[in-house]
Amino acid sequence: MAEDRLHTSTVAIHAGRGPRSHGAPLNPPLSLSSNFYGSDYAREQGSPTWVAFEEAIGTLEGGMSVAFASGIAATTAIIETLPARARVVGPAAGYAWTRSLLSERASAGRITLDEVDTCDTEATLRAATGADLLWLENPSNPLVAIAELDRICAALRDEPVRIAVDSTFATPLLQRPLEFGADFAMHSASKFIGGHSDLLLGVVSTRDRASAQKLRHVRAQLGATPGALESWLALRGLRTMPLRVEAAQRSALILAQRLSAHPAVSAVHYAGLPEDPGHEAASRFMDGYGAMLSFELHGGAEHAEDVCANVRVFINAKSLGGVESLIDRRARHSGSSAPSSLIRISVGCENVEDLWNDLRTALEKETK
Ligand SMILES: *Cc1c(COP(=O)(O)O)cnc(C)c1O
Repeated sequence: MAEDRLHTSTVAIHAGRGPRSHGAPLNPPLSLSSNFYGSDYAREQGSPTWVAFEEAIGTLEGGMSVAFASGIAATTAIIETLPARARVVGPAAGYAWTRSLLSERASAGRITLDEVDTCDTEATLRAATGADLLWLENPSNPLVAIAELDRICAALRDEPVRIAVDSTFATPLLQRPLEFGADFAMHSASKFIGGHSDLLLGVVSTRDRASAQKLRHVRAQLGATPGALESWLALRGLRTMPLRVEAAQRSALILAQRLSAHPAVSAVHYAGLPEDPGHEAASRFMDGYGAMLSFELHGGAEHAEDVCANVRVFINAKSLGGVESLIDRRARHSGSSAPSSLIRISVGCENVEDLWNDLRTALEKETK
């Protein structure tokens, strides 16, 4: 199939199905086998159910994909491929477990780590020059900030530094880092790809055959293997991802606009708003602004606590990317435990007026 000429929303539905031979199942079957006649063993050579998922993501990203037990297993595998004492440049703000992985590896002497504000393109380029790996997360957690992936990748094209992008918030529909020249595109498939809050899975894509081989070796060595059921569910989830993401980001923009206009709200972080600092960059290189947003309140941490306690449709829970909308309080600065009014929401697929009524009612409810 000439997938390169199709829209990503079509590719997400068709990729990874195998040949259209008469009588073959439309969907790759769930293969529950750890070993196979001959000599293959799933931890080492993989299982057909992982391979179907990897083929689908690889086709979307424009590279070869390797699936892992979770997003953080995928991140760990990329770090494991680095030489001893490699110089890594990581984001000063971003997913907490990525940041603790990098800082713990640095404390152990496995890598050296420089942290940089990756929204500052000049500072990022300066820090990345001469490094072995630049880790970017776009959009970032929890402030949904935008790093200029296109410009950063282009400026570092002739530098030996390798670039890894955690693309979880964007999904392969909204941004494809390998097309800009990044070496690795990583996803927690536990989020939008799976889409139903029912699985843990991660995936890394690369255009470099040797890197893909190394990642498969690390997966086998660390035992960070995906589950067959999880891979099968994630592929099933992928089929409806274009519809889910489209609906969720349409609602996210409406909620962001209405939150911005609400007197109790002091700041909204969402690149879809024209006044957002990431708006211009995201409009340039992304195909949408996504379904994650965060906001802050004039009333401080106490009001944020009340808002989260008073929602009825939004679910108080960590994580993101499912069909159900989630709300969660976050620290304003990574590593800080100071009470903050920052609230992050993962917009799901419910009716947007129900979501807004729920948020507005919670924002306006008289507190004790
Ligand atoms: C959830 C998440 C991860 C980690 O993925 P798991 O599947 O939970 O291991 C990494 N990066 C981002 C941005 C995430 O949201």
